[in-house]
Amino acid sequence: MTAMTLELLFVLFAGLCFGSFITCASYRLPLEIDVVKKPSYCPSCNAKLGFRDLWPVFSWVTSGGKCRHCSAKISIRYPLIEIATAIIFLLIYARFGLTPLGITVALMAVALLIMIVADLEHYIIPDSVHVALLPLGLAYHYLMQTPWEQPLYGFLLGAGIGLSLHYGYGWLRKKDVLGFGDVKFLAVVGLWLGLMPMVPFLFYSGLLGVMFGLLWRALGRGPVFPFGPSLAVSLFICAVYPEVPAAFWQLLGGML
Ligand SMILES: [Zn+2]
Repeated sequence: MTAMTLELLFVLFAGLCFGSFITCASYRLPLEIDVVKKPSYCPSCNAKLGFRDLWPVFSWVTSGGKCRHCSAKISIRYPLIEIATAIIFLLIYARFGLTPLGITVALMAVALLIMIVADLEHYIIPDSVHVALLPLGLAYHYLMQTPWEQPLYGFLLGAGIGLSLHYGYGWLRKKDVLGFGDVKFLAVVGLWLGLMPMVPFLFYSGLLGVMFGLLWRALGRGPVFPFGPSLAVSLFICAVYPEVPAAFWQLLGGML
């Protein structure tokens, strides 16, 4: 086996394991259950899960998608999230390789995936997501050797936009359009992206939000529609593929 194949297998395996962690964390964090200390258990019968239950994807397939103790159905969502995480890890590996920068971006993706699943299921963005994204963003800029004022100005702009949407629009329309979780998230996005990419980030978030909102309605998922997933996907794209926000400015420049 070449070093490249070994690296690919490692990235794939890490992706599956982190996928497993994401399903666990996005279930536990909004319910305030300890993610690290409490061992894995079946949410239906509370049976402690053993070694053979904890293999990502593989355990789900061999058990026929059921708990071995109480036969409660285990949602296909679990192996799907594990596979999705592995694919995202491979994309990040293709871009950054197995480097400190690649690992920082992979951990950022883990935080964003927890945010997406938690917001879809509980309409909550756990605070641990922002707490994790903050030092990861600083590490990212340190490794990219960005001038320090970029993340700082971005952070202030993100916080400003979030607060004005939260209070301004809420006051105008007498309803909450943007939860406080989204405000904190926008500040962290600014830290990650810096000043200029914030505009394309908001544009792509809105675009994704409209598409996702239509899908949400088509699936009949109820009147409250979580905006967190659109923000998370937009941040991932803008941070990992800087040519996407750059293309926005080029297109805009071409139109003016
Ligand atoms: Zn069970």
